[in-house]
Amino acid sequence: MQEEFIKKIIPDIFLTDSPSGYDKNVNDVITNILKELGYNYEILHKNTILVKVIGKDLSKVVATSAHADTLGLMVRSINSDGTLNVTNIGGPLAPTLDGEYCKIATRFSQIYTGTILAKSPSVHVYPDSKTMPRDFDHLVVRIDEVVKTKEDVLKLGINNGDYVFIEPKTTITKSNFLKSRFIDDKASVCLLLGVLKELKEKNITPNFTTYFYFVHQEEVGHGASALAKEISEFVTCDMGCVGLDLAGNEYAVSIAAKDSGGPYSYELTTKLIKLAKENNLNYVVDIFPFYGSDVGAAWHAGVDCQGALIGPGVAASHGMERTHLDAIYETMKLLVLYLTK
Ligand SMILES: [Zn+2]
Repeated sequence: MQEEFIKKIIPDIFLTDSPSGYDKNVNDVITNILKELGYNYEILHKNTILVKVIGKDLSKVVATSAHADTLGLMVRSINSDGTLNVTNIGGPLAPTLDGEYCKIATRFSQIYTGTILAKSPSVHVYPDSKTMPRDFDHLVVRIDEVVKTKEDVLKLGINNGDYVFIEPKTTITKSNFLKSRFIDDKASVCLLLGVLKELKEKNITPNFTTYFYFVHQEEVGHGASALAKEISEFVTCDMGCVGLDLAGNEYAVSIAAKDSGGPYSYELTTKLIKLAKENNLNYVVDIFPFYGSDVGAAWHAGVDCQGALIGPGVAASHGMERTHLDAIYETMKLLVLYLTK
């Protein structure tokens, strides 16, 4: 389903840096695609993009979403040697950041490049280079400019509170693996756009009026906190967990029965499982042990709706992630079935 389109938009979406709170650039990319597809949209106050698709039956409104924000870093302070201390945005797996390239975006639109390194970065010099903890107290950014003092850094326009973007390293292999940071949840952003393209191209009208939300600030806990009151069902698309005794894998769509916040809505989840089963999708039902989603954000904000979660299985989540494009296509199929059956 829309394989060529998905492969085409992955680089556009993934290579546009969008840590939570830095949403304008990725919104421009998404809204340009929406315009090309022929959709009208609204941008809400918190910069959430909302696309309303009118259904056959106007008696209820349902919703789906993906979060366009990612993990990231922010400058915490500038060291006297010209390196930067950083604070995390969301929960990146800190040890995987050692050695990663990054960009520093000043508040007034300059971009500098750099590398995230442990404070003991050379094996030839530091006795603890191999054993130093790789956490946010021991990782710094080395800027690719001649900076020897804090003042040198300030002269570049870099200051506390500037965003640091982690290089996503987006790659699609010949074997159709997508490896990249932030497949959580940019894979779902792509698949929502793919579903919108499918509806438009095949002239499919969903059963019920459907609100498609492209959300920000999910990684910091309050993404879909402003859903419209008229929504009675909300199926969010977010990554499926992979590992240990979980059923999820990189080829299937995961349907979550429960996450850290408790169970998803029983009837809506059962409906999704039934659709997946009857249509022979590659799916699993799973528990996500350390996980929250935009359904939780909506519920905590007081939205009175049924909530469910589906999404492609993503390995090594919040580290160097990987999924297979098949998992994205299976999720798209399930979402279309939900909207039309
Ligand atoms: Zn996510």
